[in-house]
Amino acid sequence: MDTVLKINNLYVGLKDMTIVKDFSLDIHKREIIGIVGESGCGKSTMLKSIVGLSDNNVSIQKGKIDFHGVSLRSMDQNQLRSIRGNKISFIFQKPDYTFDPVMKVKSQFFETVKFHTDGKANKKDCYKRSRELLEQLHFEAPDEVLESYPFELSGGMNQRIAVAMSMINEPELILADEPTSALDVSVQSQVVRTLMELRDKTGVAILMVSHNINVIASMADMVGVMYGGRMVEYGDAREVLQKSRHPYTKALLDAVPAMSQTMPESIEGAPPRFSEILQGCPFRERCPFSENKCETEPAIQGDASHWWLCHKQ
Ligand code: SF4
Repeated sequence: MDTVLKINNLYVGLKDMTIVKDFSLDIHKREIIGIVGESGCGKSTMLKSIVGLSDNNVSIQKGKIDFHGVSLRSMDQNQLRSIRGNKISFIFQKPDYTFDPVMKVKSQFFETVKFHTDGKANKKDCYKRSRELLEQLHFEAPDEVLESYPFELSGGMNQRIAVAMSMINEPELILADEPTSALDVSVQSQVVRTLMELRDKTGVAILMVSHNINVIASMADMVGVMYGGRMVEYGDAREVLQKSRHPYTKALLDAVPAMSQTMPESIEGAPPRFSEILQGCPFRERCPFSENKCETEPAIQGDASHWWLCHKQ
């Protein structure tokens, strides 16, 4: 399989505090990987670090990130900027982060293309391509949309435009940070459908993080579950979601009404703070199966198609 992005033993943190620990993942052409976890588990920090979008003072402490075999870590901000929005697109949680409010949608598409073509972009061609993308994504009046300002459109429509814009330079990888969390449930499914159609039509790989397990379940081929900065379970989506093995994944699934056969239960306790230095299993304070040996690092169980980090057999 054609590996697009390879992350190996990634650690991301702030000064001497580590937020993302020992994170590894391969994503291939045409693959959708969903990473799920509660707020503050480190999933967005991991995603932003891939293309140099980390928040202030947050940086990669160690590990490798290779895009088609080329190290993204060895690139400076200028080189990363030339890859972002071009070979790798980033979809933010809120479309406001993508758009300039005083620029028409057509100009925003044009600026995105111009930036990556040394200013040689042709307005007419760009308009045509933008229109085609909007049509592909089932916008009923693409010309009207292109002639609008973002504030004249709904949040859901703007997010779908952000998805279309993420494709204008034909990226090979889309990184999506909670792309549906600011939207109503009905609009969420439109954005999910839009992303899946893009994958089917273009073969783009998508790495998406979300706290919404239903959104991840509806589109991902592979699912990773993060807790306390670590991936604690990973594998084929059906395996992880229907035959979950890690107690945290099970608790997360039980807390989702639509996917649970029983009444939803909230997960007792709170996730660990990153300032706490955790020895052993990060979930042990909240885990109903915790025992003395959980104070030591849990070993990986399972195989490459489905693994989990837990002492429990
Ligand atoms: S290692 Fe122990 S505390 Fe951690 S999830 Fe497994 S049983 Fe629970």
